[in-house]
Amino acid sequence: MNANAHRAPVTFLTGVGPISAQRLVKLNIRTIADLLCHVPLRYEDLRHLSAIAALRDGERTTIQGTIRSIASRRTPRKRMVLTEAVVNDDSGALSVVWFHKPYLDRTLPKGTRVVLSGRVARSYGKLQMIAPAYEKIGAELLHVGRLVPMYPLTHGISQRQMRFWTATALRSGYELDDPLPEPVRLEERLLPLTAAVQRVHFPSDEQERDRALKRLKFDELLHFHLRRIMGKRKESADRAPSIPFVADATKRFVRSLPFELTAGQRAAAWDIVRDMTGEVPMRRLLQGDVGSGKTVVAAIAVEAALRSKTQVAFMAPSQILAEQHARTFAALFDGRRVNIFLRTQGLKKRADRGRLHDVPAREMDALAASGSPLCVIGTQALLQKALDLPALAFVCVDEQHRFGVAQRQLLHHKREDGMVPHLLSMTATPIPRTLALSLAADLAISTLKELPRGRKSVATTVLGPEQRMQAYAAVERACKAGQQAFVVAPLIDPSDRIGVASATELFEELRGGFAGLAVGLLHGGMPSKQQERVLHAFADNTLQILIATPVIEVGIDIPNATMMVIEGAERFGLAQLHQLRGRVGRGEEASTCFLVSQSDSSLAWRRLSAVARTQDGFALAKLDLELRGSGDLAGTEQSGFLGFRFADLGDTGLIERSRAVAEQLLSQDPDLHMLPLLQQSVTSSPPPHQE
Ligand code: ADP
Ligand code: MG
Repeated sequence: MNANAHRAPVTFLTGVGPISAQRLVKLNIRTIADLLCHVPLRYEDLRHLSAIAALRDGERTTIQGTIRSIASRRTPRKRMVLTEAVVNDDSGALSVVWFHKPYLDRTLPKGTRVVLSGRVARSYGKLQMIAPAYEKIGAELLHVGRLVPMYPLTHGISQRQMRFWTATALRSGYELDDPLPEPVRLEERLLPLTAAVQRVHFPSDEQERDRALKRLKFDELLHFHLRRIMGKRKESADRAPSIPFVADATKRFVRSLPFELTAGQRAAAWDIVRDMTGEVPMRRLLQGDVGSGKTVVAAIAVEAALRSKTQVAFMAPSQILAEQHARTFAALFDGRRVNIFLRTQGLKKRADRGRLHDVPAREMDALAASGSPLCVIGTQALLQKALDLPALAFVCVDEQHRFGVAQRQLLHHKREDGMVPHLLSMTATPIPRTLALSLAADLAISTLKELPRGRKSVATTVLGPEQRMQAYAAVERACKAGQQAFVVAPLIDPSDRIGVASATELFEELRGGFAGLAVGLLHGGMPSKQQERVLHAFADNTLQILIATPVIEVGIDIPNATMMVIEGAERFGLAQLHQLRGRVGRGEEASTCFLVSQSDSSLAWRRLSAVARTQDGFALAKLDLELRGSGDLAGTEQSGFLGFRFADLGDTGLIERSRAVAEQLLSQDPDLHMLPLLQQSVTSSPPPHQE
C-alpha cells in the first residue's frame, strides 16, 4: 500500500491531540495516510441483532433499542462507579450495567437510540447485559451491529479511538494515490486503492472485505515480486567467497557421523557443497519433513566452510532451537578443532569437548571481529544486530519460511571486500515447487523425500486431562514387558508458569508410582554431567521411564523406547510434537504416543487430533498454517508465510498473477520511471513486517 500520498499529520483529524499523536508513532502512524494504511488485524462479527425477549443467560449478543432510564452512582463499599440503564425494544426491556464510566449517563441520555454488544448474565434472577460495547444509532455504525474492525493497538490507544479516527479520515474524503496503473487494475479486476482501504476498515460483509483484501494482497505480492526482480538484477553482479570442496575431508566428516546418511541427504549435501564452490552466491532451499535429517546436511556444509577458514552464521527461529542446534553441533564437531558458539539474548556459549560452556560475550565478539573461522548459532537477531563477521561466507537459516526476507537481509551484509555469503534456508513447510519458483525464480531447491531408515509410524492418541492415567497404565504395561518410555513436559519447574505441567513436578508425582520400575529426570537446567549420567542410565535400561523437557528433541536415540507421553501437549507446535514423537518408533516394536492436553479449547483439540491422524510432517505443517489462519475471521493475522501480512500459501492464483504483472511492467520500463508512485513505494524501505 502506498502511504506516501497524505503527508497531512494525524493531528489534522478531529479528536487526535498531541498526546494521541505521540502514542500513534509507536504504531508507525504519523500521517493520515499512515492511519488509513493501519488495517485491522481481524474483525468481530457483531451483526446479529437479538430481540430482548429472546435473550438467554450467558449469551454474547447485540441488541438495538432505546435508553429508557440511565443513572450513575458510586457503590458504597467498593468505591466503584456503576452506570445502570434500562433499554427496551419492541419485544421487552433489559437492564444494563457499566463500570467506571461515569460520563455515560451524559453520553447516552434517556431517549437515545443505541446498539449494544456484550454478554448477558443473570443477576438476582433477572437478565442483565454487562459492560457492553455501545454506540448511538447515527449515520454509520462503527463499534457494534456490524463486522467490527479490531486493530493492532499500543498503550493508551483504544479500539474505539482507532475506529473513530479512521472513519473520520475516510469521511473527510482523503484519497490515497493509487500506485497501480489503471489498465492493470482493470485487467486484474481490482478495486481502486482508496475504495479497498475504505472497505477493509468498514466492510459491509465478508465478500466486500475479501475484495478489499484481494487488492491489498495483490499490492503486497506485486511489491514483493518487483523488489525481488529488481534486487536480483542488482544482485547478479554479487560475488560470494568460493568454498573449495575437499572430497576426502568431507568423507571423513560424514564417516564420523553416528549414522549412515540417507540417499536424499547425500544428494542434498552434494548440491550444497557444489554450489558453495562457485562465486555465484548460493540461494538454496532445503525442504524435508520433520525428522528427515536436515541439520546434519547443514553441518556438512558448515564443516566445509570452517575448513576453508571462513565464518558461518546459523539462525534458528527461537532461542530454544538455537540452543538445541548448538548442542547438536557441539556433539557432531566433538574432537575437531573448530569454534562453535551459541549467541542469543540470554546465552553466550562455546562448544568444547562435545558440550556447551559459558563464554564472555566480549571474548566471542572479539574473535568474530578478528575474522577467525567460527560458526555462531543464534536467532534472526544475529544478522540484524551489529555482530561483526568480516569473513562471513555461509549463512544457514532454519525453519524460517522466509527465504525472500533472509535473502534481502543479506544484501545489507556485504563484507568489506564486497562479497556476500552463500545462503541455505531449511524448512519443513511444504512449499510446492511451482509456488516456490514463482516466488523466487532464482531459488534452487533440494528435497529430502525419505526419513532415515528404520523409522516406524507411531500410533498417537489424544487424551483429556481426566484421561491421563490411561497413558500411565499403558506405560507401566510396556515397561514391565521390558520396554522404555519418555514422559515430556513443556517446562522444567512448576514455578516457571502456573498451571503448566513441569518435569520436576511430574517426577515427584511419578517416581514412586510404578513398582519395580526406575524413573529418571532430565532437563536442560541440570548440570551437563548429571544430564549425561541420566542419559546413560536410560540408554542401558537402568532407568525405564525418563521424564524430560523437550531437550530430548535432539540427539537421543534409544530404540528400546516405545512409549511417549507428552503432557501439556497443546503448548507445543504441531511440528515440534511430530518431532518429539520421532524419538520413539526407532526399534522393532510397535510404538505409541499419548498427547495429554490440559486445554479443552476446540482449536487445541483439532490441532492435536491432526497429529494423531497423520504421520506426514509436511501435511502437519500445512495444517498448522491453515488452523492458525482460520482462527480469525479475516485470515489476515500475520501468518508468518514469507513474512507476508495479507497474502498466504493459499493465494496461488494471486501469486502467479502478480508475478506476471511485475515481469510485464519491468519489461516495458525496467526502472519504473513511468510509474513514479510505484517506483517510490517499491524502492522505499519495505514495510517492517517484511524485515
Ligand atoms: P529435521 O529435518 O527435522 O531438522 P533433524 O536434523 O533434527 O531433522 O534430524 C532428526 C533426527 O534424525 C536427529 O536426531 C538426527 O540425529 C537423526 N538423523 C539424521 N539423519 C539420520 C540418518 N541418516 N540416519 C539416522 N538418523 C538420522
Ligand atoms: Mg530441524
